[in-house]
Amino acid sequence: MTRQRAALRGRRLPPRIGAAQHDCLLFPDCTTADSMSADTPLSPPDLSHIAPREQAEILAQALPYIRKFHGKTLVIKYGGNAMTDPELQQDFAEDVVLLKLVGMNPVVVHGGGPQIDEALGRIGKKGTFIQGMRVTDAETMEVVEWVLAGQVQQDIVGLINHAGGKAVGLTGRDGGLIRARKLRMRDRDNPETEIDVGQVGEVAAIDPSVVKALQDDQFIPVISPIGFGEDNAAFNINADVVAGKLAEVLRAEKLLLLTNTPGVLNKKGELLTDLTASEIDAMFADGTISGGMLPKISSALDAAKSGVNTVHIVDGRIPHAILLEVLTEQAFGTMIRSH
Ligand code: ADP
Ligand code: MG
Repeated sequence: MTRQRAALRGRRLPPRIGAAQHDCLLFPDCTTADSMSADTPLSPPDLSHIAPREQAEILAQALPYIRKFHGKTLVIKYGGNAMTDPELQQDFAEDVVLLKLVGMNPVVVHGGGPQIDEALGRIGKKGTFIQGMRVTDAETMEVVEWVLAGQVQQDIVGLINHAGGKAVGLTGRDGGLIRARKLRMRDRDNPETEIDVGQVGEVAAIDPSVVKALQDDQFIPVISPIGFGEDNAAFNINADVVAGKLAEVLRAEKLLLLTNTPGVLNKKGELLTDLTASEIDAMFADGTISGGMLPKISSALDAAKSGVNTVHIVDGRIPHAILLEVLTEQAFGTMIRSH
């Protein structure tokens, strides 16, 4: 049985399940989670063994989800390996276009950590992170802006357009979308102390009018997480933070954060299929959550508390992860709940 077919069968995962086991439920051909490493080449999908009648049946099963989410906004943070593997890129673009064509409003916010690191390496600089935030001096900011807005965003726009959609790239400057201010980051180990991470911003305000205008006109917005301050200075904002705030302001139905792990893992490396605010506090306190997962979970929780109905951290290494989450019964990744 191919993994695509298995994925389409719509089995619900049990409430708490280990990471390796989780991956193998979605991919019955695999033996361990390791076999789903980012380096594993994905074989091209072959659906010829599925009879047309069965294919029609599968499509019909998406109907309740299409009805439920018609006209609703879905904010998708596109990051991790799903952004670098060509086949996963293609799957991502097809998923976004399909959702738009069946009447939903996908809004893409992209990251670009690996691409920024590569560009920094070319000028002999090494990226450093504190509490999941990239330390951003003036030179790094120039690289961040150039890579995100000039390269990554335009690549995504091209991918979506190639898949038959009409994508439009935006930064926070366009239409006054994202107003930022310098992030005042507290030291987690010593909360009285602030850590200066340079031109890293936090969202001061979002004016969603440009996104709404594009949505209404059949366009798919693709947003680079760069905000602008009072004096027009650029700020590097974590893409998860932008996606979370945007979901809140747009009153999105769903926030999907695509990443490069099966979801949030506990100390034993097992997947936690749902998390509440108090469980998250405990995991912050005992160090289970670190690095890039810190801003991701904080943003996810803020969005859940602000009324975004479904907030999910999902494995972007799974082919068609977005369609699986939106159009099937299949539960995967970690769902973040406010209570
Ligand atoms: P993205 O591009 O998706 O934002 P990040 O590197 O910023 O990727 O964040 C995801 C990373 O967070 C994971 O690859 C993992 O290394 C790290 N991480 C830290 N704590 C956890 C945890 N408890 N569960 C899963 N991942 C975690
Ligand atoms: Mg990150």
